[in-house]
Amino acid sequence: MAKLDEKIEEMYQEVLKRNPGETEFHQAVLEVLESLGPVVVKHPEYLERKIIERICEPERQIIFRVPWQNDKGKVQINRGFRVEFSSALGPYKGGLRFHPSVYLGIIKFLGFEQIFKNSLTGLPIGGGKGGSDFDPKGKTDDEVMRFCQSFMTELHRHLGEHTDVPAGDIGVGGREIGYMFGQYKRITNRYEPGVLTGKGLTWGGSLVRTEATGYGATFFVNEMLKARKDSFADKTCLVSGSGNVAIYTIEKIHQLGGKCIACSDSNGVILHEKGLDLDLIKQLKEVERRRISDYVAIHKEAKYIPNGNIWDIPCQVAMPSATQNEINGKDAANLVKNGCIAVGEGANMPTTPEGVKVFLDAKIAYGPGKAANAGGVATSALEMQQNAGRDSWTFEYTEKKLEDIMINIHRNCYETAEEYGAPGNYVLGANICGFIKVANAMVAHGLI
Ligand code: GLU
Repeated sequence: MAKLDEKIEEMYQEVLKRNPGETEFHQAVLEVLESLGPVVVKHPEYLERKIIERICEPERQIIFRVPWQNDKGKVQINRGFRVEFSSALGPYKGGLRFHPSVYLGIIKFLGFEQIFKNSLTGLPIGGGKGGSDFDPKGKTDDEVMRFCQSFMTELHRHLGEHTDVPAGDIGVGGREIGYMFGQYKRITNRYEPGVLTGKGLTWGGSLVRTEATGYGATFFVNEMLKARKDSFADKTCLVSGSGNVAIYTIEKIHQLGGKCIACSDSNGVILHEKGLDLDLIKQLKEVERRRISDYVAIHKEAKYIPNGNIWDIPCQVAMPSATQNEINGKDAANLVKNGCIAVGEGANMPTTPEGVKVFLDAKIAYGPGKAANAGGVATSALEMQQNAGRDSWTFEYTEKKLEDIMINIHRNCYETAEEYGAPGNYVLGANICGFIKVANAMVAHGLI
């Protein structure tokens, strides 16, 4: 056992050496590798065929220039990425992130997570991710359109419904998907809905895709609570962020009887003890694209805390839905001390390794992102199914499918954790369960 762990340690050292400076990617790889010791004992063929080494090396990485002009006619240059990580289970699938912090290390961490997340959904999708260091904040619609068109002018040659199917992530929503779909259609002369997901409802999109990540994460937490003979009823909840994931997490928490009292954006925190007014948040964020600080102009009794730390607020359920590494060891310790019993990650890798350790040691219900937030990409796969069948399903039918998928993911992670002697450890359960399916497909496909 120790010897095999040593082998995995060697693999990790090799990843560090081959990918210098990509700290988020290192973090995501280490978190998965730490779970795989007992797996390679049961499956020595994975070692022989270097499955782990191969999984850590993307199948293809594309980096390109994205030139565009702002409204003043000034030339702007951004960098575009698409990392096609694994096609073991299906076409590369994963979102595009537009954010100034984007560089290769962020896209690779997201692409790596996506492999296992997509595997957990049980649907036929491989893993990939892309994006740009373009900052949509403060840009006009026209500027966003010109950027998206330039981005797609290069990316289109790498896409296809059987090849690579992007979607949204931070900074990429329905508006951006629309501009990119339009440009793809124009360049290729093909109306190919299956090439992007997160589309508008009248041109190939799926009902529930907008809600899916938030609803799915909340279904997952609901399952973790049920496994502990508990429920959302009357639970005080925190949801960080105020984007698409956060908004629909809050909505589902309220539908399931919980009370969400705080959310945030990169400038500050809104605390509203009697429960957040979700209609107002939707109006501010989805319709008017404003900052959440404007919330207190309508609700005088609510508090806006500039630069506040949402995790200082006592709660029973915390659902980080903003970005990576937003909960550190101290935040996690604070949450546990203040009575938090469940954490479900709507964002990708929102908890640092120190924070994860705090949650696991405290034995609270901790649902890592690759399991808890898989509902978004799962519903993208449902969108692809509808596109392939030139069909569109009702909201109720699609939501039920999403709920069943989340119940299944929860059950598989739960049972895998038990099987590997770590009951209640969803990190181990998700990593092992997601990995084995990909590894077996890679063994079957031979050395490619
Ligand atoms: N960006 C989302 C994720 O992190 C969704 C990806 C997709 O729908 O392809 O899973």
